Formats: sequence, structure tokens, C-alpha cells
Amino acid sequence: MLTSVSCTKCKNNLTADRFYKDSRSNRGVSSWCKACLREHRSQPAVRKRISANSSKRYHNNQAYRERAIAQATRRIERLREEKPGFREAQLEYQRGYHKDQKANNPAYTEKRKAKQREASKTADRKEKAAAQSRRFRKAHPEKGRALSRRWVQANPEAARAMKIRRRARKANAPGDICALDIKAVFERDGDQCLACGATEHLSIDHIVPLVKGGTNLRDNLQTLCRSCNSVKHDKTIDYRKHLGSRYRGVA
Ligand SMILES: [Zn+2]
Ligand SMILES: [Zn+2]
Repeated sequence: MLTSVSCTKCKNNLTADRFYKDSRSNRGVSSWCKACLREHRSQPAVRKRISANSSKRYHNNQAYRERAIAQATRRIERLREEKPGFREAQLEYQRGYHKDQKANNPAYTEKRKAKQREASKTADRKEKAAAQSRRFRKAHPEKGRALSRRWVQANPEAARAMKIRRRARKANAPGDICALDIKAVFERDGDQCLACGATEHLSIDHIVPLVKGGTNLRDNLQTLCRSCNSVKHDKTIDYRKHLGSRYRGVA
């Protein structure tokens, strides 16, 4: 079982348990040993790249997101079991650190204050802008509607996501989607109605309707044209399965 494997980075011959499992590699383990990979990943630039990639993936990929949440939940549960009181200890440590820094490190206090000032400035700016927009729309409803129309035209997916989110909130449906999800569902389904093949007047349909307890998650969404969507109404039909092998998207 413990055959010796060579690391392509440090060239050492090591036992297989010194490598990460990697199903994509034909030898079943990573080409770099754990120590080499750990060292590589600890470099600030690499760390930054990895975290940027994973946050992008988290946002774009529902399966990845669910895996990550499940993993984090498991980790917390395990820690709770193995080290009861770890969270309290952690908080205690953080409070101690904060107290110590506050007493001994003027730069620390200055940095925190600057951060707070920046945050409150941003919040202020946002609030002011929203109030201004409300006032403007009240005084010029015609212009306000034109602005909205222009925004919807420029951000069709975001507008759709906003509408769907509002409906999902009303139905108390679990899950959340954004413009990227809308884009991804259209792309996945080949930018066509899964029922009739139309490529125009496309809409997003909840396979299990929200009113019947369907979730507002990507895997409960499919592309239908407006007329097929209204024919389907509140029935539960997964057209991806319906099409079977003729489904041209990536399920
Ligand atoms: Zn190595
Ligand atoms: Zn259709």
C-alpha cells in the first residue's frame, strides 16, 4: 500500500501518505508532496490567487457553494464536539489581543478608527444616494420610470434576478439567486426554451413552482419561453428530463 512516490518539486521519494489524493492524476496522488504544496500555497501572492478563484467559484457554482457550506458546517460541528468551548476560548483570545494592541500599539487603534470612518462614510453615501433617488423619482415620476427602463435594458439578468427574488421572498422559498445564476441557467439550457426550442422571449421557470414549495436555487430553474411558461403554469415539469438525450444543455 505504502509504495514510494517521487515529488516532482523536491524530487524526494516519499510514501504515498505524504501526498494529497488526486483522482485526476493517473497515479492517484498529487505530483507535489504535501510539504511542497503547503509551502507553495503559503506564499502571499498564491494565497491571494487561490482565495480569489475560490470566491469566484463560490459565486458561480451552486454545487461548489453547497459543498463549501456543508464542509464548513461539518468543521464547526466537529470542533464543537472535540473541543467544547472552543468558540468562547477563541473570543476570549481575540478580546485579549484587542485589549493588548489597544494598550500598546497606537497604529492598531488608528487603523481601526480609519476603517470605521471609511465604513460609516460609505454607508452615509449609500443612504444619501438612495434618499436623493427617492426624492427625484417622486418629483419626476416620468423620468424615474425611464431611468428604470434604461437600467433594466442594460442589466437584463440582474433585473430578472431581482423580480424572481421578490417572488421567492413572498413565497418564503429557501435559496437565493443573482444575475450570474440567471446567466448560467440560460447558458446551461443552450439559450432556448426547453419545451419548444424557441430562442426569443425567454424566461426563467421554477421547475417545482415556488407556490408548491420549490426552492429558489439554480437546480430548480429552467429556461422556458414566455408562452410555454404560462402553459406550464403551476405544474411540476422538469423539461431537462423530459427531453432526455435530446437535452442539449449541460445538466
Ligand atoms: Zn516535495
Ligand atoms: Zn417555448
